[in-house]
Parts: sequence; C-alpha cells; structure tokens
Amino acid sequence: MLETTSKQEAAPAGMGMQKTQYDMAVEQFQRAADIMKLDPNVQEILRKPRRILSVNFPVKMDDGRILLYQGFRSQHNNALGPYKGGIRFHPNVTIDEVKALSMWMTWKCAVAGVPFGGAKGGVTVNPKQLSHRELENLSRSFFSMISEIVGPYRDIPAPDVYTDSQTMAWFMDEYSKQEKNNAFAVVTGKPLIIGGSLGRDSATGRGVSITIEEAARHLKIDLKKATCAVQGFGNVGSWAFEFLEQAGVKVVAVSDSRGGAYKKTGLWFNEVAAYKKKTGSIVNLPGSQPITNEELLELDVDILVPSALEDVITRDNAKSIKAKLIAEGANGPTTPEADDILFKNNVTVIPDILANSGGVSTSYLEWVQNLQHLYWTAEEVDHRLKTIMVKAFAEAYKTSQEYNVDMRTGAYIYAIGKVRDAMKIRGWF
Ligand code: GLU
Repeated sequence: MLETTSKQEAAPAGMGMQKTQYDMAVEQFQRAADIMKLDPNVQEILRKPRRILSVNFPVKMDDGRILLYQGFRSQHNNALGPYKGGIRFHPNVTIDEVKALSMWMTWKCAVAGVPFGGAKGGVTVNPKQLSHRELENLSRSFFSMISEIVGPYRDIPAPDVYTDSQTMAWFMDEYSKQEKNNAFAVVTGKPLIIGGSLGRDSATGRGVSITIEEAARHLKIDLKKATCAVQGFGNVGSWAFEFLEQAGVKVVAVSDSRGGAYKKTGLWFNEVAAYKKKTGSIVNLPGSQPITNEELLELDVDILVPSALEDVITRDNAKSIKAKLIAEGANGPTTPEADDILFKNNVTVIPDILANSGGVSTSYLEWVQNLQHLYWTAEEVDHRLKTIMVKAFAEAYKTSQEYNVDMRTGAYIYAIGKVRDAMKIRGWF
C-alpha cells in the first residue's frame, strides 16, 4: 500500500494564518527595496522564485512498504550565474520554507561575490527514522525527480540541514548515471575522494568565525576577553565553536536539539565533541549546568551564534538578549520584528546571508576545482575563503553605514543592487 508522508496534508487547519518563512523573507527584501527605491518592476521579479518544482515520489522501505514522500526545488534567481543552494531533509520542510531559503541564497551568493544565483530544495522527512538503505533510496529518487532542472551549469545543490557528503555522493552518482558521464560539478559538499574540496566541511563555521573577527575589529571587542554562546552543534555550530576557541573566545554555552550545557568558566571544544560522540548529545555534559535552547539565547555573553534552525529570535525574546554581537550561523534565525528591537538596543547582527556564506563560497571553490580538474591544498582553499569573506563583510558593513541601517538591510541593499544590475544588463527589464 502507498502511504503519504506529506506534512502539509497533515497540518492542522488555521496554520495558514501564521507568518511563514517566505513572508519573512519578502518583508526583509521589502525593507531594503524601499530604502534603495528599487524599481517596482524589479521588485515584482525578485519577490517570487522564477521556478518551483514540487515532486511526489515513492520510496521502498526495508520492510517492503512503499512510502510516498514530497520534495521541492525552488529556483529564485539566476541573473548572476547558475542556481546554487542546499537540499535539506527535515520533517518541517514546506514549500514556503524552501521558497524563502532560495531567496536568501540569491542574496547570499551576491553578498559573497560568487557567480551564482539562488536556489534551495528539501524533502519533508525525518531522516533519523530511516535506515542507511532507505535514506539512499530516498536521496536517489528525489535527485532523479529533480534532475531535469539541475546540472553543473544550471543548478548545483549542496548539503543543508540533515544532509551531508554521503547524500551528495548519491546525488552525484544518480545524476552521472543518467547523463552517462561523471558529473562531479553537479553538486558540491561531496566526499574528498570524488571531487570534494578540502576545507568544505568546516567552511561555514570558519566563515562565521571570520565575520565575527571582522565585526569585533569595528566594534572594538577584544575577542581574547569575550564570551560566547553557540546554539547548535551540527556542521555549522561545532566548527564555529572550534574556530572561535582558536581565536581566543571563551565559549560558555552550547546546545543541540535536545538541550544545552552552560559553564561559566568556559567549555572546551574537544571535551564537548568527545562527549557528544560518546552519548549522542550535549545534555548532561559533566561539569556543566543544563540549560534549554531558549535560555541559551538570553545568557549574559558578548557574542551569540544561533546555528540551529529558523525563527528562534523573535519579538518575544529579543529584548532579553544580552549579547552585543550576534552572528547568524543558521538561515533565518531572527524575525524582522526582533531585528528592530535589536537595532534599537545597539546589538549588531551579522546576518545569515553574510555570516554563513562561507559554506557556499567554498562550494564555489569546489565547483571551480571540479571544472578545471585541478585541486588546491587546504591552505589555498582557506586563503581564498578568507579573501571572499573579508571583502563580503567590508561591502555589507560599508553599505549599512552609508544608509544608516542595520547590517542585514545593508547586506540586502548591496546584494539586491548587484542582482538588479545583472538583470538590467541582461535585458530582463
Ligand atoms: N546549505 C548551505 C547554505 O545555506 C550551503 C549552500 C551551498 O553550498 O550551495 O548556504
């Protein structure tokens, strides 16, 4: 029997009343568009993704059942280059979320100055409930369904929430079989042995740390005396923790989806990582005080790094945030209402489209290496990443100062201006 796993069909009535991620993305865009007096025709074009593919596909389970899954690929804009952006496997994936995330990718690539447009994909699934084989079946089926719109020069997916280099290996293999050649450049974030780049794993966290170092210089924060709380210990949070520790920052709190750990005198990355590896969680880390994910955000620290999921800093808790600097490792952790409160309270927010752009920037470096069949050393990749991030930070910061707006709006104005100019010269309006 074919069973449906679609979350949207099971959603309770009335949920449509809530603001979606996409509403939030459009609101952020609109703020910048109004300030920069963006041509209404350009606004029309940029408010919506150019194309969204919605697919339903069967997956064979280990017990013989066939389940029907739903997935999406949203391609927001490709004026600056091929579409680019991750694919997430998460039970909360909806079409609205994917649309918002694809729009954010357009701005992220433009801020970073990498020659890509913006896209995002997702499957509504809890991958933690699937076996390795079921996950492979799901990954291959989804990729095969979207393969008609992806390609090394069309749309290049990458990992996102709960997908990793193994998922990318299956994607690449599936596409290569269909194309009858080895298409390494169709996805990034691959394992090293099949065209991955050195430094890609740690790139997003490294980029978060680089932007914090740049912000600290402007804000005159001495990182060697600063404290920090990191929400999330996945691919972004864990690396950000490690790089911040190397920069001399004292990380006093960290969390994962089950809860967090706080230690006033500071946590050590190696201890946290070893404990998480052993027990599967951070909760009850020896010598630490247990805290919730909500409490972590309101700790009395200098720097806050939300690197888990969206919508965690809202109008309800923004006024209780004590950090002076927030670096958004996650996509969309702060709502526009919270942005206003934080700006009024003199809290600097390094927006997601800048703070976590190290991932896609190193994806660009991986793609270039795949296309040229020539591979760089870790030092070379790190050096190129640093150059990209420092420039991106400087441009966003300069624009925010010019317009006297928060850094998110500054980054948006800078990014939207580039996309507008590319569309104009291409004759799209
Ligand atoms: N998923 C990551 C992001 O949100 C990386 C995207 C990519 O490398 O294409 O930026």
